[in-house]
Amino acid sequence: MSIKIDSLPVPPPLVETINSTHTVGNSTRTMGGEVVVWWLGQAGFALRCGKALFLIDPYLSDSLAEKYRGSEFKYTRMMASPLDPRALVGCTAYLCTHGHTDHMDAQTIQAVLKNNCPQFVAPRAEVARARQCGVPLDRAHLINAGESINLDGGITVEALASAHEEFEQDEFGNQKFLGYILTLGGVRLYHSGDTIPYAGLVEQLATKKIDVALLPINGRDALRRSRGVPGNFTLEEAIALCRAAGIPHLIGHHFGLFDFNTIDPTAAAAILRDQAADLDWLLPEVGVTYRLRRI
Ligand SMILES: [Zn+2]
Repeated sequence: MSIKIDSLPVPPPLVETINSTHTVGNSTRTMGGEVVVWWLGQAGFALRCGKALFLIDPYLSDSLAEKYRGSEFKYTRMMASPLDPRALVGCTAYLCTHGHTDHMDAQTIQAVLKNNCPQFVAPRAEVARARQCGVPLDRAHLINAGESINLDGGITVEALASAHEEFEQDEFGNQKFLGYILTLGGVRLYHSGDTIPYAGLVEQLATKKIDVALLPINGRDALRRSRGVPGNFTLEEAIALCRAAGIPHLIGHHFGLFDFNTIDPTAAAAILRDQAADLDWLLPEVGVTYRLRRI
């Protein structure tokens, strides 16, 4: 059985659509057997499955611009935050793939905590950073590659290692960069976090029957690396990973937020049209509901 992805533009404000457990887009109900996804910019997504509302790697503040004011790389947002995280309600889980601020942001975490009481999922190797960001550790699942957990709503999260140009571990050997395989609503999604291809990744994924891969496509180069900005898959590598691991749907992300670390979506779409006709791909847009269901 395959997955179908429908795109439904939603009227602003986006947060009202995300908050609603009853209607999505054009009055589409979220029921068992489907997942609804909204892109939040960069690697951030909100996912709804029934009453469960997940955030993964949301960066909904301007904290990096404040931190790097006056630096060579300015971290000025190319797009505004698509929503005020204080306005979110009903968030049941908040996942961070690693500790970098565009994935684990104290300001976003604090704002979401104003009106929500989510379970957190984060790398065990980043416990100190999670504490620093204000993650309530008493309801945090701090996990390592190779482990899986069950969250409320019959949702499972399996962690695997990611290589943000390199693998990094804490003193106990726990991986600092993770990817998550989420099983919810009968759909299996792989959010890789920040990573490049590495030996064994295809083989691991090929056994997991993944329907949809959410992969960064901003690439990497020596300049960014030399300035402490490790890179990710190129678009071509993301296409190749899906093809080799038998993943039929690719959603590219990690673009359009910082001008020194992006890919032009028009150029990316042209490459995808040219090189990925065998995949069902999309470059997400903010303000669109993506409805994933088994057919
Ligand atoms: Zn990143």
